[in-house]
Amino acid sequence: MRPLDLRSDTVTRPSAEMRRAMAEAEVGDDVYGEDPTVQRLEARVAEMLGKEAALFTSSGTMANQLAIGLHCRPGDEVIAEAGSHCLNFESGAMAALWGVQARTVAGDRGLFDAEDVTRLVRPIADVYPRSRLLCVENTHNRGGGTVWPLDRYTRVVEAGRRAGLAVHLDGVRLFNAQVASGVPARRYAELADTVSICFSKGLGAPVGSALCGPRELIRQARVLRKRLGGGMRQVGILAAAALWALEHNIDRLVEDHRSARCLAEILAELPGVRCDVERVETNMVFAEFPEPASEACAKLASIGILANPEGSTPRMVRMVTHLDAPLEAIEAAAPKLRECWRH
Ligand SMILES: *Cc1c(COP(=O)(O)O)cnc(C)c1O
Repeated sequence: MRPLDLRSDTVTRPSAEMRRAMAEAEVGDDVYGEDPTVQRLEARVAEMLGKEAALFTSSGTMANQLAIGLHCRPGDEVIAEAGSHCLNFESGAMAALWGVQARTVAGDRGLFDAEDVTRLVRPIADVYPRSRLLCVENTHNRGGGTVWPLDRYTRVVEAGRRAGLAVHLDGVRLFNAQVASGVPARRYAELADTVSICFSKGLGAPVGSALCGPRELIRQARVLRKRLGGGMRQVGILAAAALWALEHNIDRLVEDHRSARCLAEILAELPGVRCDVERVETNMVFAEFPEPASEACAKLASIGILANPEGSTPRMVRMVTHLDAPLEAIEAAAPKLRECWRH
């Protein structure tokens, strides 16, 4: 039997219908700007997020890093939450590619306040790095899939603007935020200069993300993407999967959120396991096990559940629900979990 793979929402496989859309995609050479399916995708994403233009990229990392490269010059500083993806899980890219350094905010589950931004912006003087960019992540991965309440997000973004910063929204899971909060993705997107979204997380496409923003900035992003080796040719095959995902897999994210809640409720009942059900806002579940996280993950694997240590504390395990981890599979796993962690 295939294990219940809760390591990430990236592990989904394209459905038969998605594969059909890919097989039938009209394609051309996108480096020449001749792939009609990519063009349709980019236009659709821009429209959905209320932005002038969008660019298809190979990954969320590439979309985020293009944004940082566009907004910053070497020696500049990015203000971002300490656990944010662009600092912790992108292989040191902002330093390696752009010569940019980070100034971190210690957030509460990834969220912070306008005052934090104001406090961290540098005065303009020869000795200081130039504060250039504010990055906000919604939902916040390391925070546990946290959704930014729109008013708090707005105040943070406005504080950045008042200080003359550009704003990038890492919205790789922005549609999870939309579905959980009822705030349309474009309401979050319109306040930021650039926004990245991802098709290969909860939306279930095999590959791809997009960077959206003003037309001129996205034109420059296209140049940077090529420079990084990210110009792709008949990539409409992948864009077709992304289009299919946007069409069919956004509203169903509510099911992933329901599954995550259900999983959290099961875990919270296990003796010695700590899981705060109220903190499960989207598709992520963090649970503290009685044993070290690597041991807990090995025990989980022995009953057919794959999960990863989360890393913030020694016993914390992260589980992520998705399209290929339906509620029935989670409910079916409950007796095995109870057997494994009984008194
Ligand atoms: C996964 C992720 C990314 C980047 O994803 P890729 O794996 O490079 O596609 C960016 N931001 C957040 C918050 C993520 O969770």
